[in-house]
Amino acid sequence: MEPLTRTSNEILFEIAKKLPAKDVLNFSFTNRLLYTVCSQDWVWKHLCFRDHGVNFIGPDTTWKKFYYSKDINEVCRHLSAIDEKESLQQYYSVAHKCRIKECNVPNLWMCLAKGCSVVGCGRSGDQKGHAKQHYKMDREHGLVIQIRTLQIWCYICDKWIGIPKSRPAEKAKVNAIAGLICTNRPNLQMEVALNLQMEVALNFRRQRERDFEEEIPNDSKCVLVSKTWMTDWCSFMAGCPLPGPVDNRNLLLANGSVNPDISFPENFLIVSMNTWAYLEQHYGVDGRMLSEGASQILRYRCCVA
Ligand SMILES: [Zn+2]
Ligand SMILES: [Zn+2]
Ligand SMILES: [Zn+2]
Repeated sequence: MEPLTRTSNEILFEIAKKLPAKDVLNFSFTNRLLYTVCSQDWVWKHLCFRDHGVNFIGPDTTWKKFYYSKDINEVCRHLSAIDEKESLQQYYSVAHKCRIKECNVPNLWMCLAKGCSVVGCGRSGDQKGHAKQHYKMDREHGLVIQIRTLQIWCYICDKWIGIPKSRPAEKAKVNAIAGLICTNRPNLQMEVALNLQMEVALNFRRQRERDFEEEIPNDSKCVLVSKTWMTDWCSFMAGCPLPGPVDNRNLLLANGSVNPDISFPENFLIVSMNTWAYLEQHYGVDGRMLSEGASQILRYRCCVA
């Protein structure tokens, strides 16, 4: 039998591709030749897809590092089936109108599945949900791009994909799709950015309305949001620049504890944990979450009344 060192590189690559990852790693410690073969980034790229179904990566990492990172289990692997160039063609080749003839809902989503590009309307409020219905007819068609913001939603993962809080690999892939659609179209790029800011703000407002409608149980936690940040946010709704991350530091003493003299609603407002999660995901947070039990919050409310 031929010793491994005399086997051609191609065959060694083929062998490496079929081994479990831990054996590829052990294989690479055997000798210099095997080290060279098993350290090739594309061997690890192959393993990332074979073992995790992920074929996209973020900046400043290698496929080998990515293979062993937590991130690989947290990204939406359904994005692996999406080709940026095809998404670009799909976006410009279909009419931006709901697939249901008589439906005139303006908030539209396009299916990103290969060769599909069906457009349907959203599902919140009084929209008709024709995009989700399309997914229900074919569960492989889980990824949709919002026409006016280029944001991506995955029905299978049931979440936003590539938002500020997502893993770098996922963000890079989504940015590549949106970036290609906007290439050489500075007006579209500006319009999309503005639509996106407005969409996030409106969702936040909807979420707050829900906080008021649904009674918060006594034992659940609520989160404080600085009035200063909320005022900035209200100014944004009136046409001023976008507020930065939620910043609650003006509610704290120098030692980091909550200032006992702050009061509701002069210094802070209250949101549910769900609303806070939304803020954290879409605006980001400077500092830490300040939470209190609902009964405590009710006490604040009573003080005001
Ligand atoms: Zn997904
Ligand atoms: Zn589809
Ligand atoms: Zn529709």
